[in-house]
Amino acid sequence: MLDQYGRTIDYLRISITDRCNLRCVYCMPPEGVSCMSHEAILRYEEIEAICQAMAVQGLKHIKITGGEPLVRKGCSHLIRSLKNISGIETVTLTTNGILLEEMAEQLVHAGVDGINISLDTLDAKEYAQITRGGDINKVLRGLETILRHPNVTVKINCVLDENWEQTACLLAELAVKMPVHVRFIEHMPIGLGGDKEVRLQDQVKKTLENVYGPAKVAEKPMGFGPSVYYRFENFQGKIGFISAISHKFCGNCNRVRLTADGKLRLCLQSEDSIDLKTILRSDRKTELVSVIKEAIWQKPREHNFDQKQIEAKSMAQIGG
Ligand code: SAM
Ligand code: SF4
Repeated sequence: MLDQYGRTIDYLRISITDRCNLRCVYCMPPEGVSCMSHEAILRYEEIEAICQAMAVQGLKHIKITGGEPLVRKGCSHLIRSLKNISGIETVTLTTNGILLEEMAEQLVHAGVDGINISLDTLDAKEYAQITRGGDINKVLRGLETILRHPNVTVKINCVLDENWEQTACLLAELAVKMPVHVRFIEHMPIGLGGDKEVRLQDQVKKTLENVYGPAKVAEKPMGFGPSVYYRFENFQGKIGFISAISHKFCGNCNRVRLTADGKLRLCLQSEDSIDLKTILRSDRKTELVSVIKEAIWQKPREHNFDQKQIEAKSMAQIGG
């Protein structure tokens, strides 16, 4: 799929639910976001139909996200069926890890290619505070369980906050001890995260280099997204950065997003979207391929976080 700026779009992030079993302070209010009704949410067959319509146009990589994707029943079945679509090369998942220990086996059997676990600290008390009650031990057990499957690429995603220097070093240490890649994500001004201070990539990298020695840019790019990766001596995993603020990557953007209620969002920041659910549930179904093609062509050139054009929507509704 091509847009008018010459970018090839081959990556789709699908939010399969707006519900979550945590309430991270920068993502959701304590009471949660108002949950969509079952009728409002895309059925799995509808998600498959959209992916099929995109796969014939060049979609290759799919990320399942949420809300928390593992709280929606049948997530593994969806992964299995998406993997079976001709042209789809990878299906990966982003999770908070709370349910991972119990679901790891079925996800692996379904053919999941990679699992990203969100973990902003290794301190149990701090984790409970950030997530409003989450038990970090469940996440760590989930991590341990999924690491028994070396065919699955495991990444830790971390948005740094207080005590960030110490936290960054402790999390990086995971990539010393285990074959996991640890990525630091710059906080974006979306939803409740609007006024949070951003820990910039260069600050974090410098802190890690002071402790672990010089970082070398990883020879082979990993994954299909905007991360840059570095190698540190004696690390099993790599250290990555996703820096939408300090290293704007819009020029190479390869992705679009599908919200749980069936809206195709062309840019993380912009509210502009195309309602694919309505098309799917109407007699215009046959137009799906051409509607998607036209929408992708219109993908905005770039985000404008620096101009503080903040959309009210929570990351849990967009899918991160
Ligand atoms: N519940 C799953 C999880 O936590 O991984 C998937 C959905 S969550 C919205 C996806 C990612 O978005 C998480 O890694 C979370 O830390 C990140 N996120 C949420 N709000 C953010 C913000 N304002 N800026 C940057 N990342 C954010
Ligand atoms: Fe839930 Fe993920 Fe948002 Fe945390 S970041 S509240 S786990 S959706």
